[in-house]
Amino acid sequence: MPQIIDGKIISTQIKEEVREKVVKLKAEGIEVTLAVIQVGNDPASSVYVGNKKKACEYVGIRSLSYELPETTSEEELLALIGELNDKVDVNGILVQLPLPGHIDEDKVIAAISPQKDVDGFHPMNVGAFCIGQPGFLPCTPAGIIQLLKRSGIETVGKECVVIGRSNIVGKPMALLMLGENATVTVAHSRTKDLQEVTKRADILIAAVGRPKMITKEYVKDGAVVIDVGIHRDENNKLCGDVDYDDVVAVCSAITPVPGGVGPMTIAMLMNNCVESVRLASK
Ligand code: NDP
Repeated sequence: MPQIIDGKIISTQIKEEVREKVVKLKAEGIEVTLAVIQVGNDPASSVYVGNKKKACEYVGIRSLSYELPETTSEEELLALIGELNDKVDVNGILVQLPLPGHIDEDKVIAAISPQKDVDGFHPMNVGAFCIGQPGFLPCTPAGIIQLLKRSGIETVGKECVVIGRSNIVGKPMALLMLGENATVTVAHSRTKDLQEVTKRADILIAAVGRPKMITKEYVKDGAVVIDVGIHRDENNKLCGDVDYDDVVAVCSAITPVPGGVGPMTIAMLMNNCVESVRLASK
């Protein structure tokens, strides 16, 4: 049987650690505060925002909620971000993506103060992280590093293949694995002979956005498989980019969906909120 990497347990450990740090900060008179902005009422976004607020409550972070109508203009949103940037009692600002089509997401991300960009999407944070300077790490890839470390999975000198090159998962994931001294390959939709590439991986990270695409034909015997995908299958059950039942027979460790990478993203967001206090004092 492979090792099942339990994101629920590990994310709870991280949230407990965050909770302790929040208590210490409170004793110093600092109330960690996250502003959460949602534009429109996309049902998936509402679920994500609700989960983030619940996590804030759990760890003792104060959350300020801004639920704006779908018709909010870009100017109005930028004005709100400007106000929150200036508020000394707001440590983190999170704008739930995607935004309605009439709002330029890049412009919005760039408007958030880099010191409050707890998602780690601002170009300054992306740049800082590329050259190893302090800043916020993007939550999903940072959570995957924690899953590997806390499950005792060796990364040094290992062949790692990341499938996907998005700005929020694939690219930062590859850089973080490089930082962990893995030898990293990034595969994408134009990669030739994907199976040949993925079969080289000691650690295979699937962030491809296609339900159950990664079958055992893509996986080397004994590989560690990390599944970033979140989908609903034909029976409306949650599933990942990896065909779990097929791959579980050949891998040495695997993250399930649900209960693998998903819970880590929010735990790392909570950690970034606490980090924001430390970064602001630098
Ligand atoms: P994107 O759609 O932005 O990126 C998908 C990537 O996969 C692209 O780089 C694309 O290549 C590549 N790709 C698509 N099809 C193929 C293929 N047939 N062969 C090889 N590569 C392919 O997705 P995200 O990175 O945002 O998310 C990936 C998955 O992770 C999604 O299922 C998403 O729901 C999930 N997710 C989960 C999170 C969590 O908290 N667990 C957080 C964020 C995302 P190209 O660049 O060439 O188009």
